[in-house]
Amino acid sequence: MSIYIGPVFDMARQQFELIADHLAIPADERPRLLYPKRAVAVSCPIHRDDGTTAVFQGYRVQHHLTLGPTKGGTRFALSVDIGEVAALAVWMSWKCALAGLPYGGAKGGITVDPRALSLRELEALSRRYMQEMIPFVGPHIDVMAPDMGTNEQVMAWFMDTYSMYQGRTVTEIVTGKPVATGGTLGRREATGRGVIHLAERALHLQGIAPTGATAIVQGFGNVGSVAAITAVERGMTVLGVSDHTACYFDPKGLDIAALAQHAATHGVLAGYSTEALFDPAELLAQRCDVLVPAAMERVITPDLAARLQCRVLAEGANGPTTPDADRVLEQRPEIFVIPDILCNAGGVVVSYFEWVQDLQQFFWTEAEVRDRLNQILDRSFAQVMARAHQDGVSTRTAAMAIGVEKVRDAKRMRGLFP
Ligand code: GLU
Repeated sequence: MSIYIGPVFDMARQQFELIADHLAIPADERPRLLYPKRAVAVSCPIHRDDGTTAVFQGYRVQHHLTLGPTKGGTRFALSVDIGEVAALAVWMSWKCALAGLPYGGAKGGITVDPRALSLRELEALSRRYMQEMIPFVGPHIDVMAPDMGTNEQVMAWFMDTYSMYQGRTVTEIVTGKPVATGGTLGRREATGRGVIHLAERALHLQGIAPTGATAIVQGFGNVGSVAAITAVERGMTVLGVSDHTACYFDPKGLDIAALAQHAATHGVLAGYSTEALFDPAELLAQRCDVLVPAAMERVITPDLAARLQCRVLAEGANGPTTPDADRVLEQRPEIFVIPDILCNAGGVVVSYFEWVQDLQQFFWTEAEVRDRLNQILDRSFAQVMARAHQDGVSTRTAAMAIGVEKVRDAKRMRGLFP
């Protein structure tokens, strides 16, 4: 028995077992690689604006301590539970190892709809969560970052709360902070830009010119919106976008700048247009060159996988494709899958740059951040392609095999302690 239950952790476990089989990892070594080293659950009380007290449940899972501190985002969403957070922490481990970052994976979150809180309540909850986590985090222990439902402002509150308790400013305790509070240039855009950078690489391999290619993006948060904007900058036409409030599709292409403006003003896509409204269940199945799921996990099911009409599946979200859907995609070689732990790694790579800059108090230009990010993404992409070719496996199996293998090798050489 384990506390790590639920469909998302089951998915992380199934994926891991496939990779462990591929790498012929003995059965007795597997639990050490899969199960998180630590999990913390906290109750976070806040005063509501109406004077009542409310308590929210928060979590932080630190998957492994073998390569350095743990690293990963903090999610504020109603879906958050210990199983989901643990699965996301496991994926962060393989993602960081694939990119060659000196981190284990972590993830945290609070079970809350952040949109149902006032700004004051959101600040109170963010500060309380970090305060509860102070004994368990640190710049060389566990470094938080944004994820779904959190943003630069929440990171600034986290950093400020931690710093107040230390009695000095500790910028390196979180990444994804505003530039004005020790954040790095290019972090906010890093994930979405990385997704499109890799999509261009994949398009080339598919013999499709990025200029003039078509794209569909599900999710219009930090990852989806920047991916859509970057796609347009690279000469692509974005045919469809959606968030949890609305879905738009236009075969002639959408005005992404206007949609981004609308989302910035209203916080959501709803209300932008009535003519372009589209069925969200059918958006991902429309014909396009690049399909970017950048919302939730487990949206690409076997049925949808069989109906996809894209040439490149660029996974901006974590875990958007179920293992059953993967089996369908393996029978569809015309679709190039850029697996999540490669495709959305731009965020944590630039988080690493931010941590390094904060530790050194030596800051880089945006061009330096972009160049180094692209170098790491290109290296990872080449490693995944070489491994897929060498082992005769899918790009997902290749990417995860590289990540799992690095963690396993380090554990074998270090011993049982970490
Ligand atoms: N939440 C992001 C992810 O899932 C970023 C994590 C980080 O920057 O540490 O990769």
